Amino acid sequence: VAAQFMNADQATSGSMAVAVDLGGTQIRAALVDSAGRISSRASAATLAAAGPESVIGQIAQLVAEISLDVDRDSIVGAGVSSPGPLDTAAGIALSIPTLTGFIDYPLRAKLSEQLQLPVTLENDGIAAAIGEWKFGAGQGFSNVVYVTVSTGIGGGIICDNRVLRGRRGMAGHVGHMSFIQDGELCACGNRGCLEAYASGTAFTKRAAKVAAGNRKTILGSQDGAMDAARVFQAARDGDALARSLVEQEADYLGKGFASLLHLYSPDILIMGGGLSNQYDALHVGIVHAVKAHAMPAFRDIPIVRSALGANSGLIGAASLAIGNV
Ligand SMILES: [Zn+2]
Repeated sequence: VAAQFMNADQATSGSMAVAVDLGGTQIRAALVDSAGRISSRASAATLAAAGPESVIGQIAQLVAEISLDVDRDSIVGAGVSSPGPLDTAAGIALSIPTLTGFIDYPLRAKLSEQLQLPVTLENDGIAAAIGEWKFGAGQGFSNVVYVTVSTGIGGGIICDNRVLRGRRGMAGHVGHMSFIQDGELCACGNRGCLEAYASGTAFTKRAAKVAAGNRKTILGSQDGAMDAARVFQAARDGDALARSLVEQEADYLGKGFASLLHLYSPDILIMGGGLSNQYDALHVGIVHAVKAHAMPAFRDIPIVRSALGANSGLIGAASLAIGNV
């Protein structure tokens, strides 16, 4: 009887969840407790081209590794963060571009069978938004927009203290907002999406292209693939071209973020993903662009870097499995 007066955290104290962050390049697994603390972790390079059965096998092996020394009864379930589009209501991977064979695939059922645990499946952007909301930069706020800027751009929205999921759990694909009319081709097949301009992939592609024909920049002095960290370092070293690339990236992000502020009116907008490692270099430009593109009443919404970094998705997925969301 007393239990009904306890909050979710108290009710589940001592319980743990297995969290899995399934990505196109890496699978990460961790044990996470109800306070969002990670106690054990393992990872592997995703066998992305090998098909779903192989990937499920990899996940099972990682989960076995991290739960080796743990009382099985203390694990309440598994929370799995996966790239979309997913139908999280039905537990089905609809078509994951970075993972071969995950088309109309019953991911939740297969994982549950393999792991012998109840499985909660969530889109990676939404899982990370939940992690930041519960235990990171969004703690204490009722309205949070989280944007991950990495290979692609994804996101998740907390609105009025609820996770916004939408039809089939597919809300929050913020990277595919139309951004430029008839613009660059996006990985989704459409043209001109925010992702096609402001993702880490778009950034390095642009850098490689402009550096190739420019003899004044230190960026062009090395052959091979461009990586984002090198562009940011060159900008810090005073390279004019690198600086303009960073400014342009911040401008694209700020313009995209302004649209999200208008749509969701969050208390805070949190940027995560690989490019958020360079947040110090981007912040001023992002804020400048937001002030230029957002209506006056939206210009004071704080824009911050994620507090949990690469762990937002793991911690969010675990929160879902434990049931304190
Ligand atoms: Zn797109």
